Parts: sequence; structure tokens; C-alpha cells
Amino acid sequence: MAEQEASGLQVLLQTLQSSLDRESILAILQLLGDLLSVGTDRRIRYMISKGGSEALLRTLVDTARTASPDYVILLPLFRLLAKVGLRDKKFGQKALELEALDVTLILARKNLCHSQNLLHCLWALRVFASSVTTGAMLGINGAMELLLKVITPYTQKHTQVIRTAAEVLAALLKSKSNSRRAVNRSYVPRLLRLHQDWHSHDTAHSFVPIRRALLLCLKHIAKLRSGREAFLAAQGMEILFSIIQNCLDDQSLEPVISIVLQILRQCYPKSPLPLLTTSSTYSFPVPGIVTSEAPRVLTEEDYEDDSEEEEDKDSDSEDVKEEDDDLETDVNKLSSKPGLDRPEEELMQYKAMCLELSCSFEELESKPGDDLNSDETEYANHHHIPTAASPKGLFLNKDQISGGQEKEVLVQNSLLSRVKMGRSSIHLTSKRGPGMNSYRNVHSNDPGIDSSGSDVSDIQASFLEDAGDMDAISCPRISASFSNSTKTRETAEFIDQLLQTHLKPMVFHDPYLYMAKARRTRSVADFTMMAFPDFWGHCPPLSAQPMLQRKCGVQRIKILEDVRRLIQPSDIINKVVFSLDEPWPLQDTASDCLQFFSAFESGNLRKAIQVREFEYDLLVNADVNSTQHQQWFYFKVSGMRAAVPYRFNIINCEKPNSQFNYGMQLTLYSVKEALLGRPTWVRTGYDICYYKNHYRQRTAGAGAASGKCYYTLTFAVIFPHAEDACYLAYHYPYTYSALMTHLDILGKSVNRKQVYFRQEVLCQTLGGNSCPLVTITAMPESDRADHLEQFRQRPYQVITARVHPGESNASWVMKGTLEFLVSSDPVARLLRENFIFKIIPMLNPDGVINGNHRCSLRGEDLNRQWLSPSAHLQPTIYHAKGLLHYLGSIGRRPTVFCDFHGHSQKKNVFLYGCSIKETLWQAEATVGTSNLSEDVSYRTLPKILDKLAPAFTMSSCSFLVEKSRASTARVVVWREMGVSRSYTMESSYCGCNQGPYQGLQFGTGELEEMGAMFCLGLLVLELKSGSCSHQLLTRAAALLNAEEESLDFYLQRILWRETNSSHDDDGDSDDSKYSCQ
Ligand SMILES: [Zn+2]
Repeated sequence: MAEQEASGLQVLLQTLQSSLDRESILAILQLLGDLLSVGTDRRIRYMISKGGSEALLRTLVDTARTASPDYVILLPLFRLLAKVGLRDKKFGQKALELEALDVTLILARKNLCHSQNLLHCLWALRVFASSVTTGAMLGINGAMELLLKVITPYTQKHTQVIRTAAEVLAALLKSKSNSRRAVNRSYVPRLLRLHQDWHSHDTAHSFVPIRRALLLCLKHIAKLRSGREAFLAAQGMEILFSIIQNCLDDQSLEPVISIVLQILRQCYPKSPLPLLTTSSTYSFPVPGIVTSEAPRVLTEEDYEDDSEEEEDKDSDSEDVKEEDDDLETDVNKLSSKPGLDRPEEELMQYKAMCLELSCSFEELESKPGDDLNSDETEYANHHHIPTAASPKGLFLNKDQISGGQEKEVLVQNSLLSRVKMGRSSIHLTSKRGPGMNSYRNVHSNDPGIDSSGSDVSDIQASFLEDAGDMDAISCPRISASFSNSTKTRETAEFIDQLLQTHLKPMVFHDPYLYMAKARRTRSVADFTMMAFPDFWGHCPPLSAQPMLQRKCGVQRIKILEDVRRLIQPSDIINKVVFSLDEPWPLQDTASDCLQFFSAFESGNLRKAIQVREFEYDLLVNADVNSTQHQQWFYFKVSGMRAAVPYRFNIINCEKPNSQFNYGMQLTLYSVKEALLGRPTWVRTGYDICYYKNHYRQRTAGAGAASGKCYYTLTFAVIFPHAEDACYLAYHYPYTYSALMTHLDILGKSVNRKQVYFRQEVLCQTLGGNSCPLVTITAMPESDRADHLEQFRQRPYQVITARVHPGESNASWVMKGTLEFLVSSDPVARLLRENFIFKIIPMLNPDGVINGNHRCSLRGEDLNRQWLSPSAHLQPTIYHAKGLLHYLGSIGRRPTVFCDFHGHSQKKNVFLYGCSIKETLWQAEATVGTSNLSEDVSYRTLPKILDKLAPAFTMSSCSFLVEKSRASTARVVVWREMGVSRSYTMESSYCGCNQGPYQGLQFGTGELEEMGAMFCLGLLVLELKSGSCSHQLLTRAAALLNAEEESLDFYLQRILWRETNSSHDDDGDSDDSKYSCQ
């Protein structure tokens, strides 16, 4: 701004305040008006900084206090005040100090019949009221009564005045003292009547802003408990509910509808959940004190603010807020390495878990002519590469692989060839047959399942004849104590018969073995049933399913249906039809309602209440020994009708948002479909929304209606068959028994001449289950000393998963990793020959078994226990960490550590890593870090995965070290063991919004593929590293040449450029902004 202009403005402002001459005041006002009319915000702000607001306010006070105020001056002055006041944050305060409030109110009163003058006064009041303190003062001085005089019932006259008055009143009611006054003076029924009057007359919707302002008044009052009570007493719910019924589809009424919904939700009486206690139904006597978080007791003040504005989440924004103040900015904490957390001699116990380092392999005699590399036949029978983007059947039948075809099959299905396909073809077209072979005859009692004779009509017949035995079919009793009963024997025979008739053999699954494993699995509630899908098995669907397109306005409709329960309760049934807490049996099988069941491994459903004929409220169980973490669900439902949409509402969810609002569907498994040859978990449900409901946690002393909020997940399902048994789950279930079955089958499937596969017990869990540890590498070429030396010197890679039991996606990724690592894929072979994989596939078996979402049996998050785990309280973490410490102590710390997780708020697959520099930069705490050197190799693996794996994206990766994550596996393994490539790999529960799978939800196939791609990433990482052996480079090059045609461009680029340079990090320009110079 020019100097002259600046000084000129100051002169003008001084003259304005000192001048008594009417003409010069008018002239100055005119000048200021002209100046600001062409000016930008900046010019107004400049004027404010030079005392413009004060000058105008003083002029107002001086002019208004005369016996007969001069409106020729006052009107332009008010216009200027309104304009300047909008931009001046302290305007209300200044007006209060300069006593401009009173004079304005007096002027307004005097001009009740002079609409122009009145309107100008209201403009000034509106800017005064933008400060809550000033607003409260205006309220004390009677501003609200004045405004209510102005706001008349429907008229077509002076509507601008009425609108402004209503807006000023709404602004005043932001002050709690004004709201209290409004309640005491019965404004609520008056405002409701006024609104009703305008609503009913304004059929052309010409005065929507007036209607909206009146509603805003009610909304602000409803922030007070007394306001909500007054609203309910005045039949506000009924009035607004009936108003909104007829105008939901009217776009022009959007500003009104959204406020009405907010008021209805705010005023819906809060109530505690329909549970006697929020503590888990299951409790387990655990060692030590259970540190279950006590519910926070809220103060009155919190309570008043309880009903903050509720966004109508029909929008598409799902940005997850990133918290910068959680970043660790203490350089010492980031860069110092803490000492060992246990006596050093304790580490020796882990020597027994690394037998590969001492085994002499005497049984391996190198016989001339016994070339292991050419011995492929037995191996190929188990050839299975978990990858989703296959144009060919993945489940190779033994018959398919014979003689000369073998080589071709191997090439076409190798992971490297998939890399290209995955990147270049859209997955929807992929086809795969349900379970064709591979695993057979593992179980000696295998009755010899014959799929050829199965006939659909037979299945249906047998199914219908035995409809009464539905439970028995879907949940055979497994407890030994029942084994003598006739019923059980019959059931067992029936299962045998079913399996013989209907089960098609499935890769890496065996129902008999599953049953045997499930029998040994120990649960808190002593489950005696198995869920049919876990027992029978799952084949990935033929194609990935697209994300659900959200219908516009569906959430409103659902919320209004909830409100209707209160207003029109005539059709509400409210009958508890299932409850873990109440005496069995609750279920009345004769009645028409659905039947529920959840007492099986990983099952979670606590209670079901029939609300309307086809609508059920469901409550999920808190984690064992906890009062929270309700998210995972898995239950059976039966007794359904065909072609009827059932609505389910899970009403005690805890997270404030969910991917269910952004295209994610739950999963369903139909027993009838399985018996018809389609044993598949599919995504299902429509009209899916996730929103805050009216339930609040009951807190001691404060009673109901004051604790933390709950959220409703609502969805509708049309079941595929009548009288079916269907299983619904948050995500594709993967039980502990499934893992144990899988590991057994894997162990028996490998070619022992080539694959070193060892399964052992890391430790026992609190619940008495074994936590498995798997070692995979290649057998040494022979027992010759140099071969044994190569074998023992292979670097370690450590992978863990499922510390969070609700993250079953992590288990499917792990399944893919395991199957790939033992496969005959050339990449897998190279990996085995160059690394020793130590894998703990399930860090929290007890949590998985008992249907927890987050915690162990002690009700604590095991991924917050890595700093100082206890052998007695967190055995799996203690020993996982011990094993890592041991490897470090013998100079064999792993190249990569990765812990597989699932993410409920984001899409795609991505890694979290650890970087000191990136953390400090993000926190803008760079002081004293110039000398800090950091190897940026932690970025290499995610960059490789970004190029290889269709589901993976670098853009969601983060390398920040948060204080709240200080005790996670990732951070502790990085800091204490010095593993620079220590990661958490997060897979979305939903699907992808980028890459070839964009717009698709994950199936198990895509998750398994990710597990295989992760392994390929480890190989490429090694090839890129300076330490890569010449032999490996040559073998990899040969492998790549052999398949050059099908190679992805990116992979070639990565490999060839990097093999010619020894630098680990390539400093790609795409993330130069992060590069650590
Ligand atoms: Zn997790």
C-alpha cells in the first residue's frame, strides 16, 4: 500500500472521530465507503489495524447519543460497520468496550416500524453477536425479546428484516447463557410455531433462509440438556419429523433438511446400550492386574457439549486426520539404542528355535546324479502361487501337470509373469475354478471325497429333508464329552456323508484335519461348535467385487427410520431373540424371527433384538476382560425367508468413522451355496451406512446418557436362499484352527529334499494355545561343508502377523506369503536359497479364537507391549522379541522385519516404517540434526512394492515415529534391534482406489497375492543391495531372461539399473521431497 494512502487513511479516521461537522463526516464516510468498495480483504484488514473499527464505533456512539439521531449519517455508518466488523475478530469486544451495544439496541427499538433503519441496526447487531461474550451481553440487555418482536409469523413484507433478525437471534443463541434464558422464557415452542408457520405457508420455498435461521435457533438451544427437554416437551421431534417427511427429495430445501436432521439426532433421548454391562460376556482369570480402561466420567460441561455438530456423511471425504503433535521429537529417544530388556543368558533358550544354524544334515548324502534342481515332479503337485490377477486357473490339478506341459505351466503361472499381468490387466475378468485339487490324502482317514457324483438336485433334496438339522450341519459338535451321544454320532455320520457327497477338495484345506485342530483349540467359553465356513473351507470368488456405490441420501433415510421408532412406536417389536448373557435357550424356533448363533471360534455376536418384522439391532461383544473394542463380528443367522431385505444395525460400534461409509461391504457365506459347490465368502449388503447413534455409555455416578458415544453400522441383506444358514462377518474370517490346519498341510506338502520347513512352538499363550513359529529356507545342496556354510550364512527375514485379532486380512496376506514361500515358483526357490524366513503367523491366537477385535485375554493391545513385555503376561510378544534379540546377539539381525496388519480407515496396502529425519522434519524440529546421518534404505522396499504389487501404494506409506507407537513391534524392532527396515504392513479391509484394482474390494485372492508379492519384493530388494552375491545376480538374470517377454517394464528397470550400481537407494525423483540429504 502506498505511503500516502496509508497516512491519508489515518488522517481520515482521526478527522472522523474529532469532527463535529455533519458535512465533513458524511464526506469521510463516503470516501471510506468508496475506498472499501473496491478494496480487497487486505485493505479492510489494514484499516482495522489502523484503528478503523474503533473510529467507526466512536462515531456511531457520538451520533446516536444526540437527541434526534441523524440517519443520513447513521445508515452509511452502519453499512461500513457491518463490512469492517465481518473481518475484525475483536469487533464484538470493541463494540462492548465503546458502549456501542446499547446505542444500537436503542436505535433498533426506536425503529421497529422503520424497516430500513431497523435493517441497518440489525446488520450491526449481527456482527456484534459474532463474539459469544458480546452476544451474551446483548442477551442481558434484552436483544432477544426485541428480535422476537421483529420475527413475525409468515408475511411477504419486510422479509429481509425478518431474515436478518432471525440470523441475529441464531447468533445470540450460540451463547449458553442466552440459550438458558431462551429455555426459561419458553422460546422453544414459540420458535417451533414460527417455523411451522413459515414452513406451511412458504410453498414456493422463497424464504428458505428464514426457515433455516429459525431452525438454527432451535439447534443452538438444543445443545443444552434443558433445551432438549423443552424441545421434546413441545413435541419438537414429532413436528420436525413430519415436516421433513415430505421434502426429503427437494434439493432446494437442502439447507433446511440438514439442520432438521441435526436437531432430531441431537434431541433423540440418549440412552444406555441395551446391555446390563458393557464388560465382555467372556471373562478369563489372567495373571496380573487387568488394565482395562475405566470409562471416563464426564463433567457437566462435557455433557453440554456432547451434541456437537454431526456431519451428514453422505460426502466422499474420508481423509484421515494426521496428528503432528504425536511425533517423537526427542532426538535422543529417536537415535539412542536401549539396552537389552532381559538377562543376556536368557537368550540362549532361542538357540533351540534356530536349529537350522546347528543341524548337520547327515541324512543328506550327496549322491552323484541326484540333481535336486531337476527334481520337480513331486513338487509341482503342490504348485500354487497365491495371486489374484491370473488369467488361468490357479489351482492346478495333478492331471494338468504332466509330462511336457509342466514347464509351460510353471512359466505361465510364475510370479514374475503375474507382475506384468497384474499391472496391465483389470482383474474383473480373472477366472478361477473353485477348488480343483492339489491337497489330497494328507489325512489318513480321508473317506475319499468324490466330487464327480455330486448332483445339485440331490444336494438340495438332502438339504431340505434335513432342514431341521440345520444347526447340526453347520455346527457339528466337536467336544469330546459329547462324543458318545447318539445325536453326535448321527451328526458325525451325516457330516461324513455330506463331505463325501458335496465337498470338492480344496487347496491347502482339509475338513477332517480342521476338525481335529479345532478340537484341540482352547477357548474361554469352551466352544463346542465349529462355524461351517471354517470347517468346510473357502474358495476365492470368480472375480473381485466392485465397491458399493452409495445411494445418495441413504443415511438420512436410515436415521429417520431410527427416529420413527420413537415417534411411531406401534410397529416396534423390541424382542431379544439372542443373547450370550441370558439363559439359554432364548430362541423360539417356532416363531418367524431369525435365529442367531456365535459361540464358535472367532465368533462375535453378543445380542440380537428384533426391532421390526425384518429389522434387527445387534450388539457385538467387547474384547475379553475389556469394556471396549467392539468392531469385529462373525455370526450365524438362519431361519430366513427368500427375497426379503433384512435390515441389521450393529449399534455398539466404537470408531468414529468406517470404510463402510466408503464402498466397503461385509462378507457372507451361505451353507446352501457351499453345498451347491460354491463354498465362498462373498461381499454382501447394501444401504450400508455408519453413523453416530443415540446410545451413550453408562458411567458410574453420571448415570445413563453421558458417557462416550456409540456408532451404528447398518446394512441390508437379501439372503440367497430361504431356510439357509448364513454366516456374516466383518471381514473374511481366518481362525486359529484354520492356521494350524494350513501349517500342517503346508508342512506335508513340501518337497523335503528341497524345502526346509519347520514348525515349532514359540510359546504357550495365556489361554493355553500354542503360538506357532515357522522356519522356511531351502535345504542345503548337500552335507558338504561349503554347502552347509552357505546354508547357515543365509540372512534372516522375520515376518509376523495378526497381533490384532480383528485384522483377519493380515492372515490372508500371511497365507499368501507362506504358500508362496514353499511353492515351486522360481522366485520362491531363489528366496529360499538365499534367506532363512522366520515367521510367526499369529501373534495373538487367544484373541483370534475368542472373537476379540484388538486385545489379548488380558484386555490389552499386544502391539503396545513391545517395550517391556513380560514372559507371563504377554508371552508371545516376549518370545517374539526374545527371538529377535537372540538373532541380533549372534550377529544375525534380520534384513527386514515386517508385521502384517489390517487398516479400517484407509484403502490399498501400504507400509509404515521408521525414519528419524522424516519424523523431525514433519514435526519441524530440525534443530541440531544437521550432523545426524541416516541411511535411507528403509524407502527401498516400499518403492519396489509400489512397482510390483497391484494393491500396494507408496503414497500412503509413512516413515514417521509417533510417541503413541513407541511400544509397537515396528518401532521397537527398529530402535532396539537396529533393524532399519522394520515395517508394519497395512492392508485395507476395503479395497483399492488406485492401480489395477481401483474401485474393487479385496477378495482373499488379492490379499494372498499381496503376500506373494511381498516376497518378490524381498528378492528385488536383495538384488538391488550392494551385498547381493554374484551367484544370485546371475541366477536372477537367467530367470529374467527366460521370461523377458512377460516381464514388467518397471521390474526390468529396477533390476537392470540397480545391478549395475551398488547403491542401495536410488533417490528416485518421485519422492525427492523426502530424500535425506
Ligand atoms: Zn493392527
